[in-house]
Amino acid sequence: MRVTVVGAGIVGLACALRLSEAGHRVSVVAAARGSATTSSVAAALWYPYRAHPERAVTRWAALGYAALAGLVEGPAGVRMRTGTELLREVSPDPWWRDAVPTLDRVPAAELPEGYADGWTLTVPVVDTGVHLAWLEETLAARGVRVAGQRVGSLDELSGDVVVDCAGLGARELAGDRSVQAVRGQVVVVEQVGLTRWLLDQSDPLTYVVPRLQTIVLGGSADEGDEDRDVRPVTAEAVRARAVALVPALAGARVLAHQVGLRPARPAVRVERVDAGARPVVHCYGHGGAGVTLAYGCAEDVVTLVG
Ligand SMILES: Cc1cc2nc3c(=O)[nH]c(=O)nc-3n(C[C@H](O)[C@H](O)[C@H](O)COP(=O)(O)OP(=O)(O)OC[C@H]3O[C@@H](n4cnc5c(N)ncnc54)[C@H](O)[C@@H]3O)c2cc1C
Repeated sequence: MRVTVVGAGIVGLACALRLSEAGHRVSVVAAARGSATTSSVAAALWYPYRAHPERAVTRWAALGYAALAGLVEGPAGVRMRTGTELLREVSPDPWWRDAVPTLDRVPAAELPEGYADGWTLTVPVVDTGVHLAWLEETLAARGVRVAGQRVGSLDELSGDVVVDCAGLGARELAGDRSVQAVRGQVVVVEQVGLTRWLLDQSDPLTYVVPRLQTIVLGGSADEGDEDRDVRPVTAEAVRARAVALVPALAGARVLAHQVGLRPARPAVRVERVDAGARPVVHCYGHGGAGVTLAYGCAEDVVTLVG
């Protein structure tokens, strides 16, 4: 079948790759590519953050884990990294526990001051700049073209089936008012030899994610806030919290400040609709977990395209 994918973020490109591998003739149209996408801003730690519902997300996250883990040896910008989530209260296992092979409690004596619990696990970390470029190159080698074009309506697209991976853009394209931006701001600093990640989801959200050449410090999560400008006050607070957790970051040179709008939705939408000019398979609303879920959702998209 001829399949047109809208969107060149991690979700659109992962779907395009799996559809091409399944034998379809695929083309991609996208208003933004590479560093202009939200996907490029992602930290990007494998972690099911702000994505629902729990059961489906756990399944997609497990599939995503396996897919990303399978890419570590190659040039796709993926590494397995061990790290720790710190918790302010003693907590049961996370709802997504079944998506990871192992999850070990941090002994109380090893917790930093102010924390009551924590777990250590090894997960994929994706250098999104490298990975998005790798996906586009891999698609090009398979004959899949990515065209830079803003789409006004899904009906104007050609092909036997359209796959809608427009992220926040699905609000307009699919007329879906339940899609909401959750603004995130990060500080990118130079690598100082860090390999372990750290996450503290208590308010305010704090994380330190080592990529290959850089380290991403976060974060923030402001619902309904669509301001794409960097806020210096937020940047300084993010950096200070990261340094408090990892003192080795104190002298790290700041390389960039970035803002992204997470495409949040009460439930990730992976659904086929046969009502219009041609079938549309929607795949959007991945919130703070698009990198975690993209390859898992792409498997369902291939099934739904048929
Ligand atoms: C600060 C921050 C940190 C994050 N950290 C993580 C993390 O550690 N782990 C993780 O898994 N996730 C993380 N995320 C979430 C992740 O970035 C998103 O869930 C993911 O990028 C969504 O991917 P997407 O492909 O759906 O959207 P996008 O990357 O936004 O791509 C959407 C695509 O659709 C195109 N499009 C939209 N409308 C139209 C239109 N009308 N016509 C043509 N093209 C259109 C866009 O141009 C773009 O190409 C983070 C996000 C932020 C902001």
